[in-house]
Amino acid sequence: MSALAWGVGCAVAVVGFSLAMARWRSLETHAARAERASRPAALRDAELVYLEKLFRISTPVGLVAKLDRAYRLPSGLLVLVEFKTRWSNQPCLSDVIQLSAQRMAVMGQTGQSVASYAYVMVKTQAGRSLPTAHCLELMSDDQVIALIRRRDDLLAGRLLPRRPLSLRTCDTCSFRGRCSGFSH
Ligand code: SF4
Repeated sequence: MSALAWGVGCAVAVVGFSLAMARWRSLETHAARAERASRPAALRDAELVYLEKLFRISTPVGLVAKLDRAYRLPSGLLVLVEFKTRWSNQPCLSDVIQLSAQRMAVMGQTGQSVASYAYVMVKTQAGRSLPTAHCLELMSDDQVIALIRRRDDLLAGRLLPRRPLSLRTCDTCSFRGRCSGFSH
């Protein structure tokens, strides 16, 4: 290969690499902008520290929880954020339970402080493009532990389930096939 051809080849490679880097930076900037736009306004100055990450503890109860996002406030406190798409723009009790279990798992595995509140970002299937932030007070660790132990007792048949306030709850319950308290 002549020196000229080699030089041209190198120049083409450098230009190609630069274009690829520029494209990658543009995609990264777009993703960072989208992430910033989707977070609760109260976390504007926070740092995104965990994204779709699994946490696990074995004591005082076995618990595995995958969180959507966790942000670190300038104070060092972590705040959990969960994203949901549903028909109604409202938080549910299951959001509180899920985020409370996540909080317990993150604190247990990492020893970091996690806020006793969290956000569920609800996007409606036929609504606005950006989700709405709902701030939720979380359950204490003792309440989460009691819930897990009750669930274990129900599954083992040591306890009978209480009838829910609305029988419609049974219609979508994943334990319905195994539930002796379900009778309609
Ligand atoms: S099916 Fe059983 S466990 Fe599920 S909500 Fe109804 S009573 Fe509770």
